[in-house]
Amino acid sequence: MNLQSASREQLQAFEAELSQQYDTYQAAGLNLDLTRGKPSTEQVALSNNLDGILSGNYFAADGTDLRNYGGLDGLPEMKQLFADTFGLDASSIAIAGNSSLTLMYQSVMFAQHFGLGAEAWNKEEGEVKFLCPVPGYDRHFSICEELGIAMIPVAMNENGPLMDEVEALIKADPMIKGIWCVPRFSNPTGCVYSAEVVGRIAALGKIAGKGFKVFWDNAYAVHVLNDNAEELTSITDCAKDAGTEDNILLFGSTSKVTFAGAGVAFLAAASPALSAFKKHLAISSIGPDKVNQQRHIDLLKDAEGFKRHMAKHAVILKPRFDIVEKHLSEGLAAAGIATWLKPEGGYFVSFDSMPGLAKEVVAMAAKAGVKLTPAGATYPYGDDPLDTNIRIAPTYPAIEDIDQAMGIFVTCVKLASVRKLLS
Ligand code: PLP
Repeated sequence: MNLQSASREQLQAFEAELSQQYDTYQAAGLNLDLTRGKPSTEQVALSNNLDGILSGNYFAADGTDLRNYGGLDGLPEMKQLFADTFGLDASSIAIAGNSSLTLMYQSVMFAQHFGLGAEAWNKEEGEVKFLCPVPGYDRHFSICEELGIAMIPVAMNENGPLMDEVEALIKADPMIKGIWCVPRFSNPTGCVYSAEVVGRIAALGKIAGKGFKVFWDNAYAVHVLNDNAEELTSITDCAKDAGTEDNILLFGSTSKVTFAGAGVAFLAAASPALSAFKKHLAISSIGPDKVNQQRHIDLLKDAEGFKRHMAKHAVILKPRFDIVEKHLSEGLAAAGIATWLKPEGGYFVSFDSMPGLAKEVVAMAAKAGVKLTPAGATYPYGDDPLDTNIRIAPTYPAIEDIDQAMGIFVTCVKLASVRKLLS
């Protein structure tokens, strides 16, 4: 039944039915959690062979002793593995640490204070600003907040950020120094940026103020749910064509490939920025964990091995995403009170309620024992102006828990919507 066109009597009857259902859930005292954007225990177990894989051989192919300092920007074989998997040039890659988020934080800080192949942002008059496509990844926004960078939200659709708006903002303000992008299976919408959007983002350096950087966070580049998932156009190829390679910083890691928090992360950039990054990195590190890099080379081997490994993740993840979609489409598709995208990869489903209801739905679900990411978390400063967006993270819980939690979630959405329509 489309609730938007239902009569008042129909809505009242439905409200009574849903309230009863909701009370039953509340009484059950459940404790379910759809907040955690991290791999499940089954997924991390796919990489258990990392343990002991070196069998006591602590030397890299070129004879480097992995146990000792040095090799600041990573082992050549690890660079090649990332280059082949992400469609990059190995010479553009620096491998450092276990976290791409740390590399993003460092890049913003270095660009701000020292400059990354350009003058430091804070040498210019005026407040540094970033464009933040929304809904987006809360930790990107936290980096800006921590480093005193003002955030300007820009809407997205299923093709990525609205580029007319992005270009107009950038043309009007040379103090916009960055844009956050999660281009394939965006966190949280799951969209894949279209070829047109990638091309236009690559060319932003031509119209932006000096030192502008695209923060291309390809966290979910290879995290597909099916083999036919939409591909992403190469931003580095587009930037080469546009002559804007200096404006692109690309990030990735094996966090959701092998062990989250015990993987390998990289930054890829053209040389003025890359060499500047490495110069500053060298002050803060004598060398990365090469033992772990070698373990990853031995486990994943090459781009095909990487792909085969990701296919095992997909077997675990697809049923979880299918359950979410089943509840949403069966419970809400006909009701006309919500929208969502059906992702072909990544870690999230992004859900939009009727305006003004996201906080209410999250609070209702919590009372019925289902923890959801706080409404607003997907917007800069935690402020979703329309109060519609809710991020659903189905990778970590057991399938039965997702099934139960989504049933409750759908009931909460319907109940909150019916009450709003009656008010
Ligand atoms: N970027 C995005 C978009 C993410 O969703 C996440 C983790 O949830 C990260 C980066 C963190 O990556 P890493 O573990 O490499 O720091």
